[in-house]
Amino acid sequence: MTIEGSVLVVNAGSSSLKYQVLDPATDEVIADGLAERIGEATSSIKHWYRGSEVRREVSLPDHRAAIALVVDLFAADGVDVADSGLSAVGHRVVHGGRSFFAPTLITDEVHSEIERISSLAPLHNPANLIGIDAVTALLPDVPAVAVFDTAFFSDLPDEAALYALDSAVADEYAIRRYGFHGTSHEYVSARAAEFLGRDLAEVNQIVLHLGNGASASAVRGGVPVDTTMGMTPLEGLVMGTRTGDIDAGIVFQLARVADMSIQDIDTLFNKRSGLKGLCGENDFRAILERVDAGDEAADRAYRVYLHRLRRYIGAYMIELGRVDAIVFTAGVGENAVPVRADSLAGLENYGIRIDAERNAVRSDEPRVISTDDSAVTVLVVPTNEELAIARAAVAVAGM
Ligand code: AMP
Repeated sequence: MTIEGSVLVVNAGSSSLKYQVLDPATDEVIADGLAERIGEATSSIKHWYRGSEVRREVSLPDHRAAIALVVDLFAADGVDVADSGLSAVGHRVVHGGRSFFAPTLITDEVHSEIERISSLAPLHNPANLIGIDAVTALLPDVPAVAVFDTAFFSDLPDEAALYALDSAVADEYAIRRYGFHGTSHEYVSARAAEFLGRDLAEVNQIVLHLGNGASASAVRGGVPVDTTMGMTPLEGLVMGTRTGDIDAGIVFQLARVADMSIQDIDTLFNKRSGLKGLCGENDFRAILERVDAGDEAADRAYRVYLHRLRRYIGAYMIELGRVDAIVFTAGVGENAVPVRADSLAGLENYGIRIDAERNAVRSDEPRVISTDDSAVTVLVVPTNEELAIARAAVAVAGM
């Protein structure tokens, strides 16, 4: 068996490398893997190929070492990646700035531009570039396409995209709201309309991407008009380890009274806050178990999380005027039954009625969880960023 004609999807984080090989003709996943803790004392890798899985604790000093190990694991499966006839590579790139509004073939100029705008996403874009370089060294002749997390939101209207900041400063430093998780919001909103058998252009949706990172968007007829993440993925909803919205004055206060550096505050807001900061845990399954067991800190964290989520649902209902669908996706949105019920509880007067039995169903398929008489259709639609990236890579590579 080979992987000829397939698409390799790569998502390189600062210390991780996720990959998938998909058959673009059938959407079938042929291989799937994740290397974690790259650059730390012990790294781990999980590699799955056509039904068989390998897990190892290894030493991976950098992303090149991770790619070399992936190549070895494929070789053990009888696949020579470098000579396998892959048709395209799709790379997830977090920040496209004001330079990239659509998936883009990676040329030298495009590479330089992604590098130039890396200051907008210093934690993400450099890691994405390392992944691009490592894969390009291995597969120099396979077209590589960058798929940007910001692209779907690049036409947000000014009123949603601009901060009320001195325009001269904002313009000079490209400070505006870019939005993230765009590949997921675009895929899920299109899939929801398709599932409902309706024309995307006629459906107004609120999409709730609730994973470890979390964001909401208001999508009018397929076009996003607002989203919760901003200049960086820190803004908006309460997340696993990120604050979401927070008074910027707290930055000044911590610098003054706690003598924290900008780096300290960055780490505090991005890595030690959110659900983890509130109750010591960011795994939603464990939080829900603790809530059920009467744990006070977990209960408080859960209420803060829901309060923020409901605030944005309300805001987007007003922005859209008419809402046809509210769509839950990502790890929490697809699996956490109580989050879906509690975030939309008591909204019957706004035409939102959840059906408890439908909501309790566990499935990997898109499904409706509202009652038949609910004016707003509430859905769960599993996201699939890898598939969306693979499709974009195929489209751009021109196959
Ligand atoms: P993601 O970032 O999309 O992979 O989502 C990760 C989050 O989804 C974690 O907080 C998980 O705890 C949560 N999650 C996954 N499965 C479940 C589940 N069955 N119930 C509640 N939360 C879940």
